[in-house]
Amino acid sequence: MKEKIKAKKRIFIYLLLASVLLIAAVGALVVYMTVRSNTTAVLLIQIVEIALIGAAFILALAGLLVLIFCLLTQRPVKGKLGDFLTKMALRLYPVAIWFSKLFRMSTDSVRASFIEINNQLVKNSHVTVPAEKVLVLLPHCLQQSRCERKLTDNITLCADCGLCNIGEINRMCRRLGVHVALCTGGTVARKIAMELRPQAVVAVACERDLFSGILDIRPLPAVGVLNLRPEGPCHNTKVDVSALESAICQIIKQPVNA
Ligand code: SF4
Repeated sequence: MKEKIKAKKRIFIYLLLASVLLIAAVGALVVYMTVRSNTTAVLLIQIVEIALIGAAFILALAGLLVLIFCLLTQRPVKGKLGDFLTKMALRLYPVAIWFSKLFRMSTDSVRASFIEINNQLVKNSHVTVPAEKVLVLLPHCLQQSRCERKLTDNITLCADCGLCNIGEINRMCRRLGVHVALCTGGTVARKIAMELRPQAVVAVACERDLFSGILDIRPLPAVGVLNLRPEGPCHNTKVDVSALESAICQIIKQPVNA
């Protein structure tokens, strides 16, 4: 075991574990009802239910164990079976979010935990792609609200006046040779990704958008960088540009002129 799973990552793992245990509890309840059942038709239906719940439980538990193993040993999720099993465990995220609400936990902290796990798994996979195959997606709230430049079609129209992070990010992306785009939401982000067909994505956004975006584009490797919100959500947000650059450099083969 090379490292312990850090506290932030443990939140999502614990909630997934609670979700797997919930499946087991539902299974146990159906078994109990089956034992007490005295009609053949109901018995048959309940046996099918037990088989389905049992399969879901085994697959989700196996996926969770694969995730924990990869996080502890800093190994990538290997092969189609590993991918399939982790996908099964991650499918429980609506239940995990439901549990977080039941335990009165902040939903954003659960999503941030998932983003950390995802970033760790991408890092473990040592995936590297050519710089021109990397797409950096930025949220439009990163643009200073007073700025009148229309950047959603062409981010290079930024005048680099220094009022927001976009000018600096543009320069950095030009230097590294990666694509960068400013998008107004998940639908536009998907459209840009369809057009450019990147092999990896580095996205800046809030917990909610990163969480859904990363799940949406799986199995494409995507690294999430959380934005900073000094003026509240969706308004004049910022990002740690050096953290963004590290995330990009982690997945490009040869940083051009870096
Ligand atoms: S850096 Fe670019 S996007 Fe930001 S305010 Fe200046 S011109 Fe507008």
